[in-house]
Amino acid sequence: MDVVAIVGTGPAGLAAAKELASRPDLFQVLLIDRNKKPGRKLLATGNGKCNLSNLDIRPEKYHGDIDAVFDWVNQFKAEPYFQDLGLCLRAKGNLLYPYSEQAQSVLDCFWNDLKEKGVIYMPERTIVDFQVNKGRYVLIDDKNQHIYADHLVLAGGGKASRQLGSDGSLLELVKNKGVLVSKLYPSLVQLKTKPAYKQLKGTRVHGTFFLYRDQQLVTGCKGEVLFTEDGVSGIAALELSSYLSHEPGVKQEIELNLADELEVSQLRSYFQKWQHQTHCLDGLLAKKIASILEDPPITSAKTLISRVCHWRLEVIGTRGFDFAQVTSGGILLQELDAYLMLKRFPGVYACGEILNVDGDCGGYNLHFAWASGQRVGRRILQTCEMADEESVS
Ligand SMILES: Cc1cc2nc3c(=O)[nH]c(=O)nc-3n(C[C@H](O)[C@H](O)[C@H](O)COP(=O)(O)OP(=O)(O)OC[C@H]3O[C@@H](n4cnc5c(N)ncnc54)[C@H](O)[C@@H]3O)c2cc1C
Repeated sequence: MDVVAIVGTGPAGLAAAKELASRPDLFQVLLIDRNKKPGRKLLATGNGKCNLSNLDIRPEKYHGDIDAVFDWVNQFKAEPYFQDLGLCLRAKGNLLYPYSEQAQSVLDCFWNDLKEKGVIYMPERTIVDFQVNKGRYVLIDDKNQHIYADHLVLAGGGKASRQLGSDGSLLELVKNKGVLVSKLYPSLVQLKTKPAYKQLKGTRVHGTFFLYRDQQLVTGCKGEVLFTEDGVSGIAALELSSYLSHEPGVKQEIELNLADELEVSQLRSYFQKWQHQTHCLDGLLAKKIASILEDPPITSAKTLISRVCHWRLEVIGTRGFDFAQVTSGGILLQELDAYLMLKRFPGVYACGEILNVDGDCGGYNLHFAWASGQRVGRRILQTCEMADEESVS
């Protein structure tokens, strides 16, 4: 019987384990994690509700090496997949959630299945190295204990939200072994802006938001922005963060259009009617926002439109990995074969956020984690089934 060691019990590791656990006669599956309990980050997703996939998977919703993998990412369908695990889903527009709107339900369905099929969980084990020994892999943990395996799955995530377990250590490990890893950046993360409006902390605004790079429009999205002490957060701001350039010397700005559902003519008539009021934006915007945009006083419809529809804030950075939802960057797909096996290390696979693929908000990252974990699990299964048949014949 082959031993498969899966490092990381996030969605990618769980998805790989699900495939392998279906043949307990062929495999002993070991799930290893530095955390006490599995799926810690999964439980935090979607504010605990877990936006686990999207009905409209498109390549432009991903960044990095998506072109190399898009076909099978798109072929993965969350509805039958989770139905098989006994998890009911609900769609909110294109966004898919567990019917309970509890991330815990997703984890429970996986865990019940895996436990029943004899998967062994090895908690509080931080893997610091792996070596090849007589055709098998030896994993070494931080207490210098060894775990032997015939196949190894690296599902340790990226560097985002370290407090939930993933700190980029597996990426560092493979990089030191000569595997090419692209530069890592925090993504889906709060933006720091200049100016920052401390007094607006906690204020939410709805509108359309754009990212400009050296005055050129990069992208835009409709949604909500939340002001923070040093910048902006909220889904729209996180979404824009995926498109930030990390080149030095580039000026980046976000533009807030807080009247995106009004016509220019409506804004002009509004100004004509209320221009004599000391606080002429009171009827249009939340008081705290209005008082910022009315300083200095608005003297023409053109100024009103410019301030309300083209409010620009310079982006001076992000709040970093600890506040990010995902990592942009990871193992380059050129380092892997079509089934996500490392070309340098036959028998070692990688899946999930550890790879150089990241997605926008909207369930795209979890979708990628399930799809890539499934692909790896199926491949190991297929390889061993073939070897088993050969040995019988
Ligand atoms: C707050 C938050 C909300 C999010 N919401 C959503 C959402 O609603 N929808 C969506 O699509 N995406 C969401 N994401 C992104 C999504 O959670 C990740 O992309 C996804 O979890 C990646 O899965 P993974 O299995 O590759 O890695 P992870 O989930 O990061 O799991 C990696 C696991 O490996 C373990 N590990 C790492 N290194 C080692 C080591 N050396 N030894 C042992 N164990 C190790 C870690 O402890 C961790 O448990 C969110 C992320 C955050 C932080």
